[in-house]
Amino acid sequence: MEFFGHVIDGAEGGSASGETFPSVDPYTREPWAEIALGGAGEVDRAVTAARRAFDEGPWPRMGRAERGRLLHRLADLVLANADTLALADTRDMGKPITQSRGNDVPRAADNLRFFADHARLTPAETLPMDSGHHAYTRYDPVGVAAAVAPWNFPLMLETWKIAPALAWGNTVVLKPAEDTPASATILARLALEAGLPPGVLNVVHGHGPDSAGQALTEHPGVDRITFTGESATGRVISAAAAKHLVPVSLELGGKGANAVFADADLDNAVAWSLRAIFTNAGQVCLAGSRLYLQRPILEEFLARFTAGAEAMRLGDPKLESTEIGPLASETHHRKVRGYVETVADEGGTLHSGGLGDGWFVRPTVITGMPAGGRHQREEIFGPVVTITPFDTEDEVVALVNGTRYGLNAMLFTENLSRAHRVSARLRAGTVWVNCFFVRDLRAPFGGVGDSGVGREGGTFSREFFTEPKAVVMQIG
Ligand code: NAD
Repeated sequence: MEFFGHVIDGAEGGSASGETFPSVDPYTREPWAEIALGGAGEVDRAVTAARRAFDEGPWPRMGRAERGRLLHRLADLVLANADTLALADTRDMGKPITQSRGNDVPRAADNLRFFADHARLTPAETLPMDSGHHAYTRYDPVGVAAAVAPWNFPLMLETWKIAPALAWGNTVVLKPAEDTPASATILARLALEAGLPPGVLNVVHGHGPDSAGQALTEHPGVDRITFTGESATGRVISAAAAKHLVPVSLELGGKGANAVFADADLDNAVAWSLRAIFTNAGQVCLAGSRLYLQRPILEEFLARFTAGAEAMRLGDPKLESTEIGPLASETHHRKVRGYVETVADEGGTLHSGGLGDGWFVRPTVITGMPAGGRHQREEIFGPVVTITPFDTEDEVVALVNGTRYGLNAMLFTENLSRAHRVSARLRAGTVWVNCFFVRDLRAPFGGVGDSGVGREGGTFSREFFTEPKAVVMQIG
């Protein structure tokens, strides 16, 4: 079995205790890799190494162009090792290989390249003053950034955090999700090969509570915490950060709503709506899990959407032909199963889909669910969508805004005025009009309400990973 260790201060190894844990392939339901199990001791070593690399090492001092060159070299290595990285995420969590290789790995390389260039090219401000002075701003690195990541887009989301932190001159300790540890170790190996100095990117494996995750977010040597995961975990991490007054960025859960108006281009709306909920077996924070259809198109849309859902190919995620893999773990399957098995009890109808073999859930379409019920309120995080008709614009705005989440919403309409009008009224960090999941790394990304605190992307990541400083000078 392959072994994936911690990477601390430029060296890969096991834990002091020698303890390990298995990573289980959700398709075979057998362990495929052995992972070092870290705790407070490994976290302390990693934070100390990151601190030393920041205080004494070349990384924050080498300048943005040189750091950028090394991050581009890391991006080159990520692409050169695309098959290995993609297979690691696919074996860890069951994501179809076409998605991990075709989307996640190239996006990881893009993250590294974008933030390297952004840090090098973004100007700071000059502030002319009337008083015979002038002021300017500096964006200085903050120190050690702790990154805690989820399992649904392992490599892609980890690089989304690591890249801006490193590009702005910080050092990093990453705690990947325990269900998807392998690609993080591979990335850290590649970072050393690319020439990043020891201690600049450290990886510690382990669980969350009472383990590496908690130890890292409570460590007094950390200057920033960037977290992506469940809203409940976000609350715990926010409280831990408050103890040391450490700024925290929280990218949390979602309950993406998708409103299709009768004037929409139906071919386009059906195609995007299928992708919005069934990509990555619905294990996407942005998943369009609440589909609202304006009544005149209800029957036709439902028929086409259901046919599309039933045509999706489930299977071995390592095969090119597979569109939907198993859910990521037994625990997660049990949670999603709980929602599928209670549809009738809660007043709904299972229109198509349901449970499959092993940890598979088939693309599941539910109608007739009450608006306030838990299927419409809670994040299911599986290939499960509720469909609800609506009549008016006001009605659908109230429905979309009717959860505590506010990560994203989609709307489909060919009416330009309505597109702008409704976008402005939706309570969400991102609104996609006639599309889904299209991301420009300069744009703010994040959620309102239970979906998070703060924004990532472009200058928003700069604000988080730097200490803006004003320098005021007297002239003459
Ligand atoms: P999770 O909260 O269970 O775990 C995320 C990470 O936090 C893991 O590394 C885990 O070990 C760690 N952790 C757990 N408890 C901790 C604690 N007490 N202290 C410190 N660390 C702790 O989330 P998950 O199940 O891995 O991920 C799925 C969730 O992530 C979903 O809710 C999804 O919507 C959300 N998500 C959000 C975004 C976004 O951008 N908003 C993106 C992807 C996933």
